[in-house]
Parts: sequence; C-alpha cells; structure tokens
Amino acid sequence: MSPEDMQDEEFSIHWISDIVNEVLERDVDEYLIVTGKSMSGSVHAGFMKEIIIADVIKRELQTLGKDAKTVFISDDFDPIRAFPSSVTLSPEEYMGVPYSDAPDPHGCCESLGAHWTNELVEAFPEFGADPKVVSQSKLYETKEMLDAVRICLNQTETIREILIEYVARDFDEKQKADYIESMKTWYPASVICPECGRLQSGGKGSIIPNRVTGYDAESDEVSYKCAHCGHSETTKLDKLRLKLSWRVDWPAKWYIMKTTCEPAGKDHAVKGGSYDTGLEMSRRVFGWEGPVKVPFEWVRLGGRDMGTSRDVVFTPRAWLNIAPPELFRYMVLRTDPERANNIQTDLIPDLVDIYEAFERNYYGFDDADNEKQDLAKVLYPLTEVRPVSDEYIPKLSFKFAVVTSQLQGILSEETILERCYEVLKKQHNLATISSESKSLIPTRLSRALHWAKEFGSAQDQVEVPDTVSKEIRDTLTDDDRAFLRKFVAVLKGDTLDDEELQGKVFETAREVGLKDKRAFIVLYRILISRKSGPRLGGFLNLLGNEWVLNRIMSVL
Ligand SMILES: [Zn+2]
Ligand SMILES: [Zn+2]
Repeated sequence: MSPEDMQDEEFSIHWISDIVNEVLERDVDEYLIVTGKSMSGSVHAGFMKEIIIADVIKRELQTLGKDAKTVFISDDFDPIRAFPSSVTLSPEEYMGVPYSDAPDPHGCCESLGAHWTNELVEAFPEFGADPKVVSQSKLYETKEMLDAVRICLNQTETIREILIEYVARDFDEKQKADYIESMKTWYPASVICPECGRLQSGGKGSIIPNRVTGYDAESDEVSYKCAHCGHSETTKLDKLRLKLSWRVDWPAKWYIMKTTCEPAGKDHAVKGGSYDTGLEMSRRVFGWEGPVKVPFEWVRLGGRDMGTSRDVVFTPRAWLNIAPPELFRYMVLRTDPERANNIQTDLIPDLVDIYEAFERNYYGFDDADNEKQDLAKVLYPLTEVRPVSDEYIPKLSFKFAVVTSQLQGILSEETILERCYEVLKKQHNLATISSESKSLIPTRLSRALHWAKEFGSAQDQVEVPDTVSKEIRDTLTDDDRAFLRKFVAVLKGDTLDDEELQGKVFETAREVGLKDKRAFIVLYRILISRKSGPRLGGFLNLLGNEWVLNRIMSVL
C-alpha cells in the first residue's frame, strides 16, 4: 500500500466497539482477554497484532469501569519437530522433547522455550501492552490443568465424536471411514516418557505420539507406550506428565482460565476450524460456552527487502529498532482486523509522517475537518503506548532524522542535537522546545539511522567521505571551479535558510553560465561522492557553512 493509498483509504474502527459490546454481553466479574503463541522459534513482529487487539479490548473495557486483564500464554510445551539454524543443539537428541524441557543453547534462560518467550515478551511494554505471561508447561503442572485432562479422558467418546464431525467433514467416504476407524482407539492426551523425556517419536512426516492407550476412570490409571524407547506402563494419572492433543489443549486452557475473549489468526479462526472445534468442546465437554472469538488476518511486513535471510526473523525488537511502536498500533487498529495489513518497511518515513499528521488532528491542528478530528479522538489514544499527554509534544521529522542521523561521524553529537532543535522549532513554529520534545530526539535519530541502513534506498543512504577523492576532483571543469568560487562567497555572507540557500545554488550557477543541473551534481559529488542526494539547501545547512566551506576549498 502506498502512502497516497493509505491517506485516501477509509478508516473503519467501529470493529472495536462491536467486539467490546459482544464481550460485554458475557457480563462476568473479571474479563480476561487471552493471547497465545507456540514457541518453536523467534516470533515475528506481525504477531504483535494479536497482542495489540487484546490490549485495546482490555483498555476499552477498563474505560467502561470493568475489571479487565490480558494474558499471554506461551505454548512452550509442544514437542520439538525441527530447529531453526540458529539453534546449536543436536536435533536427534531433542526431537520429540517439549521446548520447555530443552536447554537454552544461548545460556541465558531456563529452557529453549523460555528463551523465545523472553525474547518476545520483553518487547511488550514498549508496544504499550502488559499481559500477564503464563507458560503452558507450567500450566500443566497445576491441579486445575490435571483436572481438565481428567475431564477430557473421561469424555474421550464425546471428543472423538466432535473431531469426527469437524475434522472429517470434508473427507471423502474412504478417508472418513479410515479416520473413524483410527479414532476408535484414540485418546485426547499423550504422555511425556519418564525414561527418555519425549512426547513423541520421529521428525517431520513420521511422527508417532506417545498417545494414551487406555484410561480407567475408577482407578484413575493411564496406560501408554513410548514410541521412541518402548517404555510402557499403567500408572496413576497424577504420577505422569501429560499433554492434551492440540485441538483439545486450547478449550482446556479456556476452561481453566475462564477466558472471556481470545483473538485468533485466520488459519485457526476459519469456520469449522480449530477455534470452532474448541467452542464445541467447551460446550459439550466442559459445559460452558467458551470465549468470544475475534478472527483476524495476519500482518505482512515487507517492502523492497526485509534485509534478512530466511532464518533471521523480523522480531518485535527489530521493529522497535527502526520505527515507533505507535505506528504499528495505528496500522493494525485503523481497519477491521479481518483485513490484511501489509506494512511496507521501505516506506517507514512516509508512514511516520502520516501517523504524526493524524496525531496533530487529535490535538486540533492543521485545520482538520470534524470527521477527521472525531476519528482521531477515538483512535489516537488507543495507538499511544503511554497515557495521552494533555499537550501536543512536537516530534522531529523522521525524514530529517534519516539524513541527520547519518552524519554522526561528521558532526559532533552536540551539533547534531542543535540542528535538530533548530529544525524542530522551524517545523512547528516554536519559540522554545519542551524537555519532553527534546527527550524524544535521540530515539528518533537511532531509529532513523537503523532504518536507513537496513531498509533505506540508495537515495536514502548518505555517506560523507572524509575527503574528496582524486577521481572526483579530476572531473571538475574550469566552469565548475568558477561556480564553486562564487558559491564560497555566498557561504561567507549572511546566514540563509534552507530555501534561500537552495535558490542561491540556481542563482550562482546562472551567474557563471553553468547549467543548474551541473551545479547540483558538482556539489553532491564533493559532499557525498554521488550525483544526487538529500534536498541540497537543507543538507548544506545541516553540515554547516564552515564545514562546507572547508570542503569546497579542499578542491579549489
Ligand atoms: Zn535465553
Ligand atoms: Zn521413552
């Protein structure tokens, strides 16, 4: 989506109140909005959409005076199927072991599952979200979860019926008959083998779970056989570590947490999919209606190039390194969650401009029409990571920060900040800048620099060499030198603003009979060894007259 398309596009935010109204109908004492993610690797930044949807539902409920909380469940109890290439553990040794039982090869967390969980959740506060983090493996250690497993084993026949009804609905006769046959001996839980630590044997394509083979309700005893090492036994349910099958695990978690609402990506939320199967189990196995389903379409983060190889995931932290979290919240909240979002990382500076124009609408600047202001009144506070400030806090232009941040080797930190203050004052017509406004500048410069390096086009990347190369000096003609000598006089004169200085380049070129275009090429080459670059007037002022003078003198 181009920035122009984005500006024209209709906002549609009534989805927020629609969902909140549906959730309110549950009329419970505590509203629990739950999210979750399996931990089989670093989690992609697109997942933050789920966290932000949950956060907004919670915020709106709290605004209405309700007791509302968010929870994030890290599904770290799944068995290992494969490792991303960043993991140095031996796949043979850990295949089939839960992620929560494998060691952290990075050495910093209590398990491999915990490592990816920590990597994800440490970014939540910066995105404005504060869910309680629950580990699925720890949940399975609770009495409540053990009771839920017992309920499922007791209701195996009902669960088989539901699965046949939902999973086999699109099967042909033969497939259906085979499935019904296989379900005759199927139980909804598997056992972690106390001998070899596995929940299943085999890797991709050849997986055999350590499925329960029998359950006696009277003695509460479970039978199983390990598909990996052959260990088998019949023993008390509470002596074992069990895990429910994934389609059963979800409604069991809803049941014990009393989940009021859970958003789910389209793949799970499709009609008749795992969410609907779970709701059916909630009703028939656990005897309650289950949560309010909020389907959403995933976010795609793309653009020209993600600048990463397949094995390197673009994490929430990677987003925070290049762009404000408020922009991400704005991008996912401004349209119905069932619409796909494609956030083009190469357009971040334009998108930040659009977001900040929207922020100004909220504060009533820029002659926004009533419709725009009404929309901003509802949406803007939900995009903010911190409580909304009473007063507008002017932000330094991201585009200016892109150029300026790359001059850190040329200009001192102090000079860079001074230039930023000057531009901020001019940009927002201010006499002074508040300390809050100033405090945002270092982060903005850092994000802009990372963005330029990773996602900026050749045009966005500005590198100022220490000296002008001989090759470039050799291209200068007598006319070029005449122009430069005259331009030196301009720089020695009165201080000019960006536009005046830009105009002076044209004027000086004309005076010595040099084509405008040539004059610009000559200056860009001397400054950054290229034929074009950032808008020249502003760029010259950014570098400062003294620096530019010395540079030009070095070639004359
Ligand atoms: Zn770690
Ligand atoms: Zn075993």
